[in-house]
Amino acid sequence: MINERIAKLINDQMNFEVESAYLYFAMAADLDCRDLDGFSNWMKIQGQEELQHVTRFYTYLVEREGRPFFTGMPAPQKEWESPLSIFQAALVHERKVTDRINKIITAAHEEGDHATVNYVNWFINEQIEEEANVKTVIAQLKLIQDSGQGMFMLNKELAARQLTVPPAQTQ
Ligand code: MG
Repeated sequence: MINERIAKLINDQMNFEVESAYLYFAMAADLDCRDLDGFSNWMKIQGQEELQHVTRFYTYLVEREGRPFFTGMPAPQKEWESPLSIFQAALVHERKVTDRINKIITAAHEEGDHATVNYVNWFINEQIEEEANVKTVIAQLKLIQDSGQGMFMLNKELAARQLTVPPAQTQ
């Protein structure tokens, strides 16, 4: 059975993943307002992936005889200055997530909770990927600056992103 300290950290993270999805859908809406449907597609998939993370933490709590509790959260920002500032804000957010994941694993080590260390380790790799993916888009946006042609091409490229569904049970 999971101890109270770790259960709280996992539950907080589950809620933070909902908050992440909420933020990314707000960003997608801003991108759609700019007629950047490919950028918006990328961001909506990002949001859907966050909901998969919610399910992972939820499932883990239940499996360890914990109890998921959903809390309220602040409304996400509505508008950003530019597509670049949206992706920069996404990177700041992902770094926050990485920091939180590290703290959960540190706490699990302190509590001798090897099951949590093992389970949450998946998120260590996931965070490397998340940060790298956002950084790639930021680099491309910086390269093309305000070129309409560049934005047209990148929008097309980001339209191709598809949601990958991880193997059953752990999604
Ligand atoms: Mg996440």
